[in-house]
Amino acid sequence: MWKNLLTTLLGAHRFRWLTTYFFSNKCELATDVCAQGLLRDLINSLPELVAYKNIHGTYLNCNQAFEQLVGLSEAEIIGKTDADLFPPDVLDLLQEQDEQTLRLNNACYLETWLSYPDGRLVWFEMIKTPFHTAEGILLGILTTSRDITTRKQSEEKLKQAAQVLENSSEAICITSPETIILVVNKVFTQITGFSKEEATGRKVSQLLKSGKHGPSFYKGMWDALNTSGHWQGEIWNKRKNGEVYPEWLNISMIRDDDSGKVTHYLAIFSDISAHKKNEQRLAYLAHYDNLTGLPNRTLFREKVDRALLHARQYQTKIAVLFLDLDRFKYINDTWGHAIGDLLLQDVANRLVECVCKQDTIARLGGDEFTAVLENISGTQEVIEIAQRILDAFRPQFYLHGHETFITTSIGISLYPNDGNDADTLLKNADAAMYRAKEGGKNDYQFFALEMNEHARQRLILETQLRYALGRGEFQLHYQPQMHLASGHITGAEVLLRWMSPEVGWVAPHTFIPLAEETGLVVEIGEWVLYKACLQHREWRENGKPILRIAVNLSSRQFKQDNLAQNIIRIVKDTDMDPTLLELELTESVLMQDAYAAAEILRELKSLGIQLAIDDFGTGYSSLNYLRRFPLDKLKIDKSFIHDIPGNQEDMTITKAIVALARNLHLGVIAEGVENKSQLAFLKSLKCDEVQGYLIGYPVSGDEFISQF
Ligand code: C2E
Ligand code: CA
Ligand code: CA
Repeated sequence: MWKNLLTTLLGAHRFRWLTTYFFSNKCELATDVCAQGLLRDLINSLPELVAYKNIHGTYLNCNQAFEQLVGLSEAEIIGKTDADLFPPDVLDLLQEQDEQTLRLNNACYLETWLSYPDGRLVWFEMIKTPFHTAEGILLGILTTSRDITTRKQSEEKLKQAAQVLENSSEAICITSPETIILVVNKVFTQITGFSKEEATGRKVSQLLKSGKHGPSFYKGMWDALNTSGHWQGEIWNKRKNGEVYPEWLNISMIRDDDSGKVTHYLAIFSDISAHKKNEQRLAYLAHYDNLTGLPNRTLFREKVDRALLHARQYQTKIAVLFLDLDRFKYINDTWGHAIGDLLLQDVANRLVECVCKQDTIARLGGDEFTAVLENISGTQEVIEIAQRILDAFRPQFYLHGHETFITTSIGISLYPNDGNDADTLLKNADAAMYRAKEGGKNDYQFFALEMNEHARQRLILETQLRYALGRGEFQLHYQPQMHLASGHITGAEVLLRWMSPEVGWVAPHTFIPLAEETGLVVEIGEWVLYKACLQHREWRENGKPILRIAVNLSSRQFKQDNLAQNIIRIVKDTDMDPTLLELELTESVLMQDAYAAAEILRELKSLGIQLAIDDFGTGYSSLNYLRRFPLDKLKIDKSFIHDIPGNQEDMTITKAIVALARNLHLGVIAEGVENKSQLAFLKSLKCDEVQGYLIGYPVSGDEFISQF
């Protein structure tokens, strides 16, 4: 019997390790005596309570741990039944389980509490196993009991907690140490969308991970948990419907009091999306003006700081504009604040339209607005924007049935000239704005006085230039071009002249760049071509010699979509022979938008119009484009001719350009020929044509044609 008992004991799952012990000790289970002694030693060495009874429930033996429980010695226990040892309230359960074990002839498991003689209550996990003879005859029940009080208590605690938490306003999730979800509450389901059934048994990461945090985030979380047993913070998780949301999460590690091992994790969280939105709203209010939606002073200063950082790094310029509406108080006082507010909103909308996307318009408060312009090329660009703003105020404002005009005064400061930081730039722009007010309002002023003079001059010129065409202040002059070998005049370059009644004669190198910047050159250029073609027809009709005319085209004109069509139309309208029309363009045209330019030139070329590259040698001079475009002539820039014969280098370049033109089968003309040695040198190179004061000054059409 001892042998069988021992075998049963060893066979019971949790004592399997003992098998190793016996066989390693080479213990022979041959005799009952040996087995009996061995069994005693064995069961006494176990922390579990071990006892066995016959099929009638009478105790046959037990270990010391069991003796302690019932408070009797082994000898006293033997021969007794459970009814002698345990109180009635647990007896039923014990007896019921004994019966079941015998009836089923199979191991039974139960959990129950029992009390020690000192009154201490302990929870036990009991396994009742039937044991048999070698022939299989049932002999009795082996009971092993293990103290599970700690586990019971913590489970009890969690259960209680879960009950409390079921009605909590926060989501609760209890997981195993492997983060498998064991318990969740109602709010968990409300927030995540996962029911209790869907959530339990699954890993947290499988269910909720949003993908918004990198591995380092989770590592930080686990590090904190492992060191302090606690972590809390904001985390993005995912709902069942895929929506990602922010939650405030509080995780605690629950450890076994005795072993210190992690038994559970308790996570408590709340959905903070609404709170977040509120936070964003607050952040918005802190940085934006409520009335107009424009950045406020705080954000504006941040923007200027950022712009300054960029400007320092890339050595670019920025401008700060300070605007104050003229007579705003009057509108407020007459029509009330509601109308005043409407006006400010309207003004804000108009201002935003005046600047680039990257630039910032802000409202500092009241009727004060500011702007920061980044990456500006120079004062001209700022003037244009300031002027654009003043123009934007020109149309009437319609305010709930009221109509009004209002203007603004603008002060401008520039980085780096007028300040290195946001405060200084703002202060100086503000000061400049006051000067604009003093000067009569509806105007802009630069902080630096000399800038104002420059700006004033330009503005006058620009204003005059706008009227020049309409007032007929432009004239065309013609400068002869001569065939070198024969000495015949073959054509003339058409040069624009402006006689302004206010400013006097204005040189092309002053007004052409201004016309280009303002875009006026498009209109002016068309006029030049039209007039030159008309002049040509007049000469032809009057029986004058048939010559070629060369008209300058600005690179700005190539930015129009319909340049070719416009030219072709003018040629047709004036009955001009296209083969006698030459257009002079600069290398920059070909470089800027090579594809578009090639298209335009091909169209013009197909009509028979001649194409010359002006100022050749000063630009990028890429051989590639010379081949790519349908050109006829290179015009050697006058700077190379100027120092001939003194400058050897210029002579070499001139020689090279002539050779290059030959090679590419292009004609070549030298401009700026002022003396005989220059002419002789060009003749020696077999340059095709020359132009310059030596041959003739630019003169009016009448004067030019009178020489023939
Ligand atoms: P450009 O096309 O290089 O024109 C030649 C300039 O050299 C003209 O100056 C002419 O008067 C000057 N010049 C002629 N012979 C000599 C000489 O022997 N020595 C010196 N030192 N200079 C000489 P201008 O008329 O003042 O024109 C200046 C520039 O204005 C032109 O340079 C051209 O780029 C532009 N321009 C003139 N008329 C027009 C026009 O109708 N349309 C466009 N887009 N630009 C024009
Ligand atoms: Ca020219
Ligand atoms: Ca030229």
